[in-house]
Amino acid sequence: QKARLVINDARSKGATEIVEFQAQEVLRAYNLPTPNTALARSSDEAVAAAEKIGFPVVLKIASPQISHKSDVGGVKVNLSDAEAVRNAFFDITARAQRMRPEAYIAGCLVQEMAPKGCKEIIIGFKRDDQFGPLLMFGLGGIYVEILKDIAFRLAPLGRDDAKGIIREIKSYMLLKGVRGEQPVNFQAIEDILITMSELALDFPEILEAEFNPVLVNSEKAVVADVRITLS
Ligand code: ADP
Ligand code: MG
Repeated sequence: QKARLVINDARSKGATEIVEFQAQEVLRAYNLPTPNTALARSSDEAVAAAEKIGFPVVLKIASPQISHKSDVGGVKVNLSDAEAVRNAFFDITARAQRMRPEAYIAGCLVQEMAPKGCKEIIIGFKRDDQFGPLLMFGLGGIYVEILKDIAFRLAPLGRDDAKGIIREIKSYMLLKGVRGEQPVNFQAIEDILITMSELALDFPEILEAEFNPVLVNSEKAVVADVRITLS
């Protein structure tokens, strides 16, 4: 199927990292929720894509060699008109070229913005030689490094395991909502965890995968960034 094609293609090129744009194809093949995204090779294409997707949009550097996009100033969110998109395209590509002269820059991804007020979570797995895929769940964004608030479960994950791993983190109450906030859509998070466990078992050559962040509100969850590492 499609996921197999993407992974085989990356391997045949000797790549060990599948960055966002290609990895999204794997996600779509598994019916995981991804934001509407287009690859723009010029500022004109970026503006056209943004108009089609609808403002505001996010622009992200698209390069097979750049997997940590923010490190090179490669992500700009909340771009609300054509001029902002055009400027961001030039800014992002110029800076990436300057900071990573060896990198091939395909252009920028133009991506639908997640709605305001979403919470950021991280869902990932690492493959253990002995025990197989170890799924990880935690709060994302700036909190994850400070709080080290992460829970783990071995694959395969069923519905109850998914519910359990979510409740295990200390920040669970933040997801339930404080001060009259609506709780996030827990079922959407569970679905992503269960599907990631399936992906991990289907593809032994995936060493690790990280959805960071998954943006979630009371209605839905969307995988806003994905990185897949092959063995
Ligand atoms: P990086 O490669 O640096 O991890 P990301 O794609 O994760 O790049 O983007 C960096 C940050 O920008 C995310 O952690 C998130 O806060 C924000 N972001 C990324 N994509 C979106 C989106 N579609 N909607 C809203 N915010 C986003
Ligand atoms: Mg990220």
